Amino acid sequence: MGVMRFATRAIRVGQEPDATFRAVVNPIYQSATFAWEDLDHIPEIDYTRCANPNRSTLEEVIAALEDARHGQCFGSGMAAIASVLSYLKQGESLLMASDIYGGTHRLATTWLPRQGIETLTFDAADPESIRAAVRPSSKMLIFESPTNPNLRVIDIEAVSRIAHEYGLIVVFDNTFASPALQSPLALGIDVVVHSTTKYISGHSDVIGGAVVTNDDTLATHVFDWSKAVGAVPSPFDCWLTLRGVKTLAVRMDRHNQNAQSLAEFLERHPSISKVHYPGLPIHPDHALAKRQMRGFGAMLAIELTGGEAAARRFCEATQVFLLAESLGGVESLVGYPPLMSHGTMTPAERLERGIPPSLVRLSVGIEDIDDLTEDVSQALDHV
Ligand SMILES: *Cc1c(COP(=O)(O)O)cnc(C)c1O
Repeated sequence: MGVMRFATRAIRVGQEPDATFRAVVNPIYQSATFAWEDLDHIPEIDYTRCANPNRSTLEEVIAALEDARHGQCFGSGMAAIASVLSYLKQGESLLMASDIYGGTHRLATTWLPRQGIETLTFDAADPESIRAAVRPSSKMLIFESPTNPNLRVIDIEAVSRIAHEYGLIVVFDNTFASPALQSPLALGIDVVVHSTTKYISGHSDVIGGAVVTNDDTLATHVFDWSKAVGAVPSPFDCWLTLRGVKTLAVRMDRHNQNAQSLAEFLERHPSISKVHYPGLPIHPDHALAKRQMRGFGAMLAIELTGGEAAARRFCEATQVFLLAESLGGVESLVGYPPLMSHGTMTPAERLERGIPPSLVRLSVGIEDIDDLTEDVSQALDHV
C-alpha cells in the first residue's frame, strides 16, 4: 500500500489480518504477560504495563492520524496530560492558557505546586500575552482550541511561534477538534495530547488518552513515565477505541453538518441571545477557524435570554439531548457548565471566563438533524 489518506489510515494502519487465523479484526490480547521462547531472545512484548499488542496498534494508528512518529496511549486523557507535565522539574514553571480544561487546571494548580513547579497563566486568545507571562523558569506551555465552553479558536501557529522564541516546549490538547479537523504538529506544536474518551473513540463507552509527538526525547520520557506509574489502558479499552477510531472521518463529517445546522437554527431563535459556534460568520474567530481547521466541530454553547432559570429548564427539558458530562460521542449531550464542567469555579471566576449562568453547552451527536432540531425547539418552548 502506498501513502494512505486519513480515512484509510484509521482503518488499515497496523491492522493486517492476524498471523494465526487471518482474522480481519485482531483479537483482544487479554494477557498480563507473554512467554519467553528462551533466555537468549527478549520478546518484543513481555508484560502489559510496558506494552500490549492492542495498545501498540492503537498507538500506531493515532500517531498516523496526527502524522507523528510517536504515539503513547494512556488510561485517561488526564494520565496522558500528567505524563507530559511530569517532564517539568522542581523550580521550573508551566505557562497555561487561562481557558483550559478543568482537569488540566486542577493538575497544574493543585498538584504541580507540591512538586515545586509553578503554574503561570496567559490569555491564549492574545498570543502576545505570553511575553508578559513568561519567566526564566518557564519550560513548557499548554493550551487548547477550540476552548471550552466558549468555543474561541486560538491561533495555534502564533502561540507556537512566540512560545518557541522563549525556548518553551509547546503542548496542545487536540481533544475538541480531533485529528480529523486539525493538525497541530504541522502548525509548530511539539506535543499533542488527547482525551480519546471523546471523538477518537466516539461512543462514550471508554476512558482513554494519548500523547503524540515527533520529539524523540519527549516520546521516551512519556513512555518511561507510563512504564513507571502504569497509567495504561486495558487491552479491551484499546480494542474498543480502535473500533471507534475507524469511523472518525465519517462521524466528524456528520458531527460538523449537524452542529452547523443546529447553530443556524438557534441563532434565529428568539429565546437565544447568543450562539457560540466557530462555523457562524458572526463568531469572532470564524476566519481563523476556516483557515486553521477542516470543519468547525460539533461543540457549541448558547446563552438563553431567560437567564439562569431558562438555562436550567432547557437542560432538563431536552429528550434526545441527554443531560450528562462529557462530549464527542455519537449521542447528543447537553451540559450546564456552572454545575458540571466548571462547577469548581466561583460565579465571579466563571463570569470573568465568559460563562454566565444563562450558558448551556451542547455536544452535537450524529442522530438525524430533524430530531435534534425538534428536540431543542420543544425544549425552548418550555423555558
Ligand atoms: C475530557 C477532556 C480531558 C480529560 O480526559 P479524560 O479522558 O476524561 O481523562 C482533557 N482535555 C479535554 C479538552 C477534555 O475534553
